[in-house]
Amino acid sequence: MLTTWWGSILPLDLAEHVMNLMYESLFIGGEWVTPSSSATIDVISPNTEQSIGRVPEALEPDVDAAVVAARKAFDDPTGWANWAPERRANAIEHFAAALDARADEMPIRVSSQNGMPIAISSRVENVMPQTMLRYYADMLRTGEIEFDSERKGVLGRIRVSRRPVGVVGAIVPWNVPQTIGAHKYGPALAMGCTLVIKPSPETVLDAMLFAEAAEEAQLPAGVINIVPGGARTGAYLVEHPGVDKLSFTGSEKAGRWVAETAGRMLRPVTLELGGKAAAIVLDDADLTQNLEGFFMATMLNNGQSCYLGTRVLVPASRYGAVVDIITDFVRSLPVGDSLDPATRIGPLATARQQERVEGYIAKGTAEGARLTTGGGRPRELGWFVDPTVFADVDNHSTIGREEIFGPVLSIIKYTDDDAAVRIANDSPYGLGGTVWTSDVERGLSVASRIDTGVIGINGFLADPAAPFGGTKASGMGRELGPEGLEAYQVLQSTYLPR
Ligand code: NAD
Repeated sequence: MLTTWWGSILPLDLAEHVMNLMYESLFIGGEWVTPSSSATIDVISPNTEQSIGRVPEALEPDVDAAVVAARKAFDDPTGWANWAPERRANAIEHFAAALDARADEMPIRVSSQNGMPIAISSRVENVMPQTMLRYYADMLRTGEIEFDSERKGVLGRIRVSRRPVGVVGAIVPWNVPQTIGAHKYGPALAMGCTLVIKPSPETVLDAMLFAEAAEEAQLPAGVINIVPGGARTGAYLVEHPGVDKLSFTGSEKAGRWVAETAGRMLRPVTLELGGKAAAIVLDDADLTQNLEGFFMATMLNNGQSCYLGTRVLVPASRYGAVVDIITDFVRSLPVGDSLDPATRIGPLATARQQERVEGYIAKGTAEGARLTTGGGRPRELGWFVDPTVFADVDNHSTIGREEIFGPVLSIIKYTDDDAAVRIANDSPYGLGGTVWTSDVERGLSVASRIDTGVIGINGFLADPAAPFGGTKASGMGRELGPEGLEAYQVLQSTYLPR
């Protein structure tokens, strides 16, 4: 047994772990079926650039089959959507238990594919999905989800019912694939929806383990269907006539297309897109007391999380000292194999991400920002990028505006609190953010002026009980919390006889 720097326990030393997983079938309609074609997705390790597995790629006929299965399960008059809440709660809890049974294996699969340090995946990717399932199952059990309520109207009595929206097309990214998936299927299952889930091609081996859990839990056939594939498969699912609701997490570019398509089809959609959040260090903050919290809020998962505060706003009065603290801390972060428990910064998920991040680093230098640490490649093999800090960043420069999605911080100087708020809000995005201060009330006051869907004081850990989502180009709608259920409901009003 090994304990990681974040306190998670690992079953064994994993640095030498070699995975070679081959799947031949797709999980559709509650069984493993032969795919429609011989197309496959090869999974490449970001640590070694070697192949670590293969799964069938779901193409259009497979998506058709998955939507048909989900539709059949949803339309069954005695099926999932019509079960009593207690019965669905039981099934959801069985599913959580089946995921628990895979809690050792899941983080290995995730980290082997996307480079997430195992210390993180073993506290997040094998815990949060079950936490969310149990959170929503509890709400079902305690009657907190009001499926039907009656009220006195203006003209008579009314019943207001919350019905499941139907078949959900859920498109999931590679950065935190299991947890982000649960943001969607957790509330959708609780409401009685059925799902076609499309994982990213970068993270399909964890999706297969997830499918095995769904099979073991004996969720009714068709309630969960998995179609691994890329943009083509995703786009086909988005436009599929048999889908009632879309939930997408990923890039702004793809998200805009999904939203345009959903608009044309008058199909409800929830979008969780990019971010360029501000970490506002107030002049009374002592970052040295909370560097762990600062790391979680700005660089977790190799910088590949949408809510991270990658624009660090530092007051002019303490600028030099704070830049030094951040630079020394970032320089000290151990970079390494994502399966090494000591690793804080692993490789980026893909060669494309590595190139993209390196492109931003080059642009930062070219546009006049001052590199205080990092900027290079720590290893030739694997898709690594040094943890990097730029100081003297102009908020209007490319690295001040665009989401880098890598371990790169941009430090921006400000004069007073009003200026900090102005700079924080001068962004196309509105997801995430933090305020660092020794005075929580002052922090709350600054936080309340930031145009963002989620913000933390002296730290940021997404809580499943709080609505999560963005403003502006960061997306539409909210996931998590009781509010997360609303994305999977339709309302029906019944005028009762007088
Ligand atoms: P992406 O948007 O291309 O992929 C995300 C998911 O959407 C994947 O499952 C992908 O297959 C699917 N997809 C892509 N195009 C689609 C389309 N037209 N229709 C339906 N589905 C489609 O993101 P990416 O290329 O993997 O990453 C690029 C950038 O996206 C990152 O650098 C980052 O800025 C952002 N990103 C954000 C998040 C997030 O959590 N908000 C997650 C991953 C990536």
